[in-house]
Amino acid sequence: MTSSPAPAGPLRAVIYTRVSQDPSGGGRSVTSQETECRTYCERQGWPVAEVVTDNDRGASRWSGADRPGYRRLADLLQPGDVLVTWEASRAQRDLAAYVALRDLCADREVFWSYSGRTYDLNTGDARFSTGLDALLAEREAELIRERVLRGKRAAAKEGRPAGRPPYGYRPVKDARTGKTLAWEPDPDQAPVVQEIVARVLAGESLWAVVRDLDRREIPAPDTQRNAAGSWRPQRLRVMLSSASYAGKRTHQGEIIGDGAWPALVALEDWERLQIILTDPSRNVGPGPEPKHLLSGLAVCGLCGSPVRYFGPKSVKSPRYLCEKNCVGRRAELVDQLVTAVVLARLSRPDAAVALTPRGGNDDQAAARDEVRTLTARLEDFTEAAASGSISATAFARIEASITAQLDQAQARLKAATAGGVSPTVATLATAADPAQVWEGLDIRARREVVKTLVNVTINKSTGGTRRFIPEDVVITWKTGADHE
Ligand SMILES: [Zn+2]
Repeated sequence: MTSSPAPAGPLRAVIYTRVSQDPSGGGRSVTSQETECRTYCERQGWPVAEVVTDNDRGASRWSGADRPGYRRLADLLQPGDVLVTWEASRAQRDLAAYVALRDLCADREVFWSYSGRTYDLNTGDARFSTGLDALLAEREAELIRERVLRGKRAAAKEGRPAGRPPYGYRPVKDARTGKTLAWEPDPDQAPVVQEIVARVLAGESLWAVVRDLDRREIPAPDTQRNAAGSWRPQRLRVMLSSASYAGKRTHQGEIIGDGAWPALVALEDWERLQIILTDPSRNVGPGPEPKHLLSGLAVCGLCGSPVRYFGPKSVKSPRYLCEKNCVGRRAELVDQLVTAVVLARLSRPDAAVALTPRGGNDDQAAARDEVRTLTARLEDFTEAAASGSISATAFARIEASITAQLDQAQARLKAATAGGVSPTVATLATAADPAQVWEGLDIRARREVVKTLVNVTINKSTGGTRRFIPEDVVITWKTGADHE
C-alpha cells in the first residue's frame, strides 16, 4: 500500500476517536483507541495537542453537521498538523465519513495517520489508498452486519425460540438482558392445550370443546378471543395446526426439525389431529350433528341405499327407513342390537390387538422415518449450496428430486396415519369396562366407533311387520375380527 513518507520534524498531533455502535460487540473502546494512538504519536515524536471524540451511537448515517467532535476538528486543525486515528474502520465506517475527513485534511493541509501509516491527502496515491481503505472498512461493516444477521438466522435454524411463544408456553427470559432464552410449558395453559387435543382426537367437535371451555370460564388466549372474550372454533383450528405443540419448528408450513422446547403433544397425535382438522367431510360448524347411531351408516339389504331415521312426533316408534322405502325397522331396537354386538366384541381380551389394523403402526413409523431422512438430506444439500460446495444447477436438480420423494413419503405417512385405529376405538378396546366408556360418549363418537368397526345391513323382515328378528340385521366386521 502506498503511503507518503512520514513528515520530518515534530508535528502537532490531534487524536480523533469515535464511539461506534459495533454490532459484533468487539469494537475498541474510546480509551483503548486513545491509548494506541498516543503510543504511536510518542514513537513518532509527535506532541498530542488534543483528543477529540465523537459518539456514533444512534446516528443512522455519518455527517459532519451532527458531529460536535468533527466540528471541533475543523476549528482545531492547522496546516502541518497530523490527524491520528486508530484505524480506517474506526475513523470512518461509511464513505460519507471518509470523504468529510479526507476533504478536511486536504483543505487544512494536514496529514492523516492511521494503522501505522501517514498520508498526505493532496497526493493522488494517498487519496487512492485511503479511499480503498474506506471502501474496505465499509465492506467490513457490512460483513459484520451480515454475520449478526446470520447469527439470527442460525438461531432460527437451531430451533432456538424467537419471539412470542404460542398459547400453552411461556417465555423464559434472561433476567439481565430480558431476551427470550427458551419456551417452557405454561402451568395453566399447557394442560388446556393437551385437553383440547385429546378431546378433538376422541371425536369431539371444535364447537363442543369451545362451548365447554367457555362454560368453565377458562380464559381464551388473546389471539382466540372474539369481542365477548370467548374461544372461537376457527381460530382454535389455526392454533392447533402449529407444529410447535409437537416440539417441531416449521419453515413456510413444512416441519424442518426439532425445536428447543418441550412438546405438549406426541408427534403421532399431532399428525392425527391435522388429518382430523383438515378432513373436508368433518362438520366443524354448529349445525345439526347426526342425532342417531345408524342414520346414513346402516344400509338397506335390498337396494343398498343408506337408511334414515324417521321419527316425527306423530309416530310412536321411530324407525330407520331405507331411502327408497324397501325396508324399515324400529330404530331403538336396531341401536340396542348393534351396540350390544360392538360392546361384546370390544370386551373380549384380544380386542385391542384384533381391532387394530396389523402393520398400520409399522407403516406409519417407516413413512415418518423416510420423511425425516429426506428432510435432513434436503437441509444438508441446502447448506452445501449456500456454502458454494455444490453448484446452483446441481442443487436445483437434487432439490426437485428430493422434494418429489418427500411428497410421496408424506402422502404415505398421511395414508398410514389415517388408516390407524380410531382413538375412541382404542380407548374402548383397552377399557376395563367398555360399556361404561360407551355411556360417556356423545353420539358423534359412538357413530365413529360403529363406522370404524362394522357394516350394518338391514334386510327385509322375516317375521312380519310386528316382530323384530335380530338375524334380519346383519353386522359384519370391517377389521380383523370374526362375526359374532
Ligand atoms: Zn332399499
